[in-house]
Amino acid sequence: MSNCLFCNIAAGEIPSSKVYEDELCLAFYDIDPQAPTHFLVIPKAHISSVSEINEENGAIVAHIFQVIAQETKKLGLDSYRVVSNIGAQAGQSVFHLHFHVLAGRDMTWPPG
Ligand code: AMP
Ligand code: ZN
Repeated sequence: MSNCLFCNIAAGEIPSSKVYEDELCLAFYDIDPQAPTHFLVIPKAHISSVSEINEENGAIVAHIFQVIAQETKKLGLDSYRVVSNIGAQAGQSVFHLHFHVLAGRDMTWPPG
């Protein structure tokens, strides 16, 4: 989608600070980090949020979680939080599926 920020980042049209990339997904550091380590993992194909995951496109989610397990190990992170906001009330501001990976500070529960 040409008017989607994360589609443009996935296509390399908008620069990002890359953590990892393959043909299916991209991981890059959040521009406004909420923890000492804060990166996002997105599918390259446009999916607007978790609410649009289905039988046909759902394999990407397992792949993204494999990438999260791999990259957090590479970064030496043994405790971290994975978050996906769905809808404006939950805090979603970019409507392209993404998983936040946050680490490096104490976290509260429940999240605010
Ligand atoms: P959410 O609010 O859950 O939809 O998450 C969107 C995230 O994208 C926020 O944490 C933003 O800081 C982050 N973000 C917005 N624009 C950029 C960008 N150009 N590069 C990296 N992260 C971004
Ligand atoms: Zn998109």
